Amino acid sequence: MSGALPPVLEALLREAGAPDRPLALPVPDLAPWRAGNTLPGVWSFAAAAPGPHVCLVSLIHGNEFAGAVLLDRLLREGLRPAIGRLSFVFANLDAFARFDPADPTASRFLEEDMNRLWDIAALEGPRRSAELRRARALRPLFDTADVILDLHSMLWPSDPLYLVGGSPASMELALQLGAPPLVVSDQGHAAGRRLIDYGPFGVPGSGRRGVLLEGGWHWEAETVARMEQAVRRLLALTGLVPAPLPPPGPPPRRARVTRTITARTADFVFTRPWRGGEIVPEAGTLIAHDGGREVRTEHPDCLLILPSLVTQPGHTAVRLARYE
Ligand SMILES: [Zn+2]
Repeated sequence: MSGALPPVLEALLREAGAPDRPLALPVPDLAPWRAGNTLPGVWSFAAAAPGPHVCLVSLIHGNEFAGAVLLDRLLREGLRPAIGRLSFVFANLDAFARFDPADPTASRFLEEDMNRLWDIAALEGPRRSAELRRARALRPLFDTADVILDLHSMLWPSDPLYLVGGSPASMELALQLGAPPLVVSDQGHAAGRRLIDYGPFGVPGSGRRGVLLEGGWHWEAETVARMEQAVRRLLALTGLVPAPLPPPGPPPRRARVTRTITARTADFVFTRPWRGGEIVPEAGTLIAHDGGREVRTEHPDCLLILPSLVTQPGHTAVRLARYE
């Protein structure tokens, strides 16, 4: 580690086997995209020929700028749809604007996690925050979307993966995207709905599909490359940007979350720095302590999804999953 992260975090990351390059990705200059052509931070292009509306979403978390690096590149290339409509979304530019390499996790959001407020009750309720204001502004755009690909990256070491909610159509789309070859369906978070669970996107049979890509470590070029592969494949699959599909790689595996572990106390601690994608062979293995409560796996070959090695009460600490 270079010392660019808070020392406690750095020590944990080193123990967890994180890459020895905390900030290997240059911070993009997004000033050209701030104004947008549809909404601030949103660029949307419609083709003459009808087709689906595909939204590529970056910066739902302000410090996860790998997706924004990709959208910046595609916009500068002048990428346009041959059919339908293609939208490029820089979701939380205000949080991103506060990105500080000396404290690179602080700019995840300004006031609250933008990926926990996509419930109708929160969107239409009286609560106010910078993120809710932005979500309310973006909502009409997502109301017209057929497909959302939400580009995220990770702090804690983990295999890259797709997350989908309960909609089989979203699962099917993620499987078609191919790489990374793991698609996990889950029930979201106790703390609130994600964008991919918003309104019709979480409803089976709605025809709307929402997929979240956890592309890799926050700040490295490989993460951007994985995102680009997924985006180009999505655009080819939906017909927006016709291109031959590369031959399929190894068939993706699908997993279903069997239990979401939400931290109840401030003393939640894992028994060791588990890596996302690790398989715990034996049922009943102790993986964490939450105050006085033991957290154990409940079935054999339990797949650990996105363990968050530092967590807080009410936050998702890890998801337990099973291959299907
Ligand atoms: Zn994220």
